[in-house]
Amino acid sequence: MFRNRFAAIMLVLALLLPSAAFAKSAGSEVYRAPAEDLEKIKIEGLKNSKVMDTLGYLTEVIGPRLTNSPGMKRANEWTRDTMSKWGMSNAHLEAWGPFGRGWSLNRFSAQVVAPNALPVIAFPKAWSPSTPGMVTGKVVKLEYKTAEDLEKYKGKLKGAIVFISNKRPIKAGFKEIGHRFTDSELLAMANAPDPSTMPRGRQGGNPIQARIQAFMKSFALQNMAMNMLIEEGAAVMVDNSRKGSGGTVFVSGASVGGPAPTSIQDLFGGRNSAYQIGAEKNMVPQMTMSTENYNQIARMLKRGEEVTMSVNIDASYHDDDLMGYNTIAEIPGTDPALKDEIVMVGAHLDSWHAAGGATDNGAGSAVAMEAARIILASGLKPRRTIRVALWSGEEQGLNGSREYVKQHFGEMEGGGRFAAILGQKGKLTTKPDYEKFSAYYNMDNGTGQFRGVYLQGNAAVADIFRAWLMPFDKILLGKDTKGNEIRGKSTTTLTINNTSGTDHLSFDAIGLPGFQFIQDPVEYSPLTHHSNQDNFDRIQAGDIKINSTIMAAFVYQTAMMDQKIPRKSTP
Ligand SMILES: [Zn+2]
Repeated sequence: MFRNRFAAIMLVLALLLPSAAFAKSAGSEVYRAPAEDLEKIKIEGLKNSKVMDTLGYLTEVIGPRLTNSPGMKRANEWTRDTMSKWGMSNAHLEAWGPFGRGWSLNRFSAQVVAPNALPVIAFPKAWSPSTPGMVTGKVVKLEYKTAEDLEKYKGKLKGAIVFISNKRPIKAGFKEIGHRFTDSELLAMANAPDPSTMPRGRQGGNPIQARIQAFMKSFALQNMAMNMLIEEGAAVMVDNSRKGSGGTVFVSGASVGGPAPTSIQDLFGGRNSAYQIGAEKNMVPQMTMSTENYNQIARMLKRGEEVTMSVNIDASYHDDDLMGYNTIAEIPGTDPALKDEIVMVGAHLDSWHAAGGATDNGAGSAVAMEAARIILASGLKPRRTIRVALWSGEEQGLNGSREYVKQHFGEMEGGGRFAAILGQKGKLTTKPDYEKFSAYYNMDNGTGQFRGVYLQGNAAVADIFRAWLMPFDKILLGKDTKGNEIRGKSTTTLTINNTSGTDHLSFDAIGLPGFQFIQDPVEYSPLTHHSNQDNFDRIQAGDIKINSTIMAAFVYQTAMMDQKIPRKSTP
């Protein structure tokens, strides 16, 4: 309790008294929208919200939205038409790429058929080739640490169901998996050191190059195993869900064999991607199994039991259009002097394939759309143009947003995707709209409520964002049946720190202000992020209504203030 009260007091102090890291921006007149405008936004966002309707349709009617799949195409078109119906302008799909082929699942089943019948919880990997109908084969578990270990399986894998990963211990869940940031966790964020003062190219003390080499080495061995399965004519490759229990399966894209990649660019450069036409020649049908099922079968084999499984993966490749598409729509600016300037809000619309992609990232897409709907429905007239962008290809490497930024604003030449990782400097070339761009706001950390903003090393925006977050701090949402007030959580944590892994990075990489909000984790990492549990039931309606409202207020005020959002001194 003490600790918490102390943490609470320290947190309030940290939030109210700009710490050294944020001192630089003191004195600049911070724009705040008139109270009546904010009130309109609150009423539309909290009392007349449509965000759950949008999200329900995306996740349960359209469903999985794997990049370039029919579900993705439908989502691109539906979001375009919906925003157009709401009265937004210039609603269109913008092509990028080529990305590669689409993939969709028609039918799947997997079960142990001997020594006894056991339907298993598993999911094919995205872009996996199909099995030639239902295949039945002996289960073989590969035990290997070296290339020599692999040799002993030569001639023994034809038609086999091959288990390639280790068993994974499951711990009992004594505490709830859902989590909201505590005051002390938020305080630690607020006091994080400025990332620009941190040594580059290092993680956890190890030079990044050493980590890359270690990764390449383990990848080479896996690649060897995959090539052997292909040569041997194995029927199906099976791996163990890398985390989760109770039937939760974390599954993403299929792995590709062929010549081992020689560099990180080679590895992540797309050559080796399962969505390349022809990649199926270097793949065997693949699925990920729930850990309980996987461990059980592995232990049966260890006891000398012979296990036979039947698996049917029936999937389709879609090669008719290899281009990726982003959905774009606008609320035109009204101020003759500022209407050509741009404020962007967005999220990735693509998802993985094992569920409806609700927390990743249907929630972010619905919130970005809802923020614009709230501004429109409130009758507010932004001075700058507000542009909503729903990206595709994010899960395969921020592709849609990166290509968009390159097409519209500029790029870091010579540095390429890995410049930052490898500490290489690129040369910035910009397009005319680079100077017309104010800021981009992203949501992609699950369903949790906004608790603040990651400043991405940009101290100059601290006072502005602090002022804009305050009106939503512990906001009153209503009363419960006993008349007790229901309030949202605190919203005013600012950390100078970066956050990574999502689309704001595409803007930040070329020196344009791009921000991701701090969100309560809820059940993101332990349950929904890239799993078969990422469903609508996991959405916290109150949280995403608050997020939509805050997002609308941020975007609107960015579109109304005299200046553009201040930029970091160096990209
Ligand atoms: Zn995501």
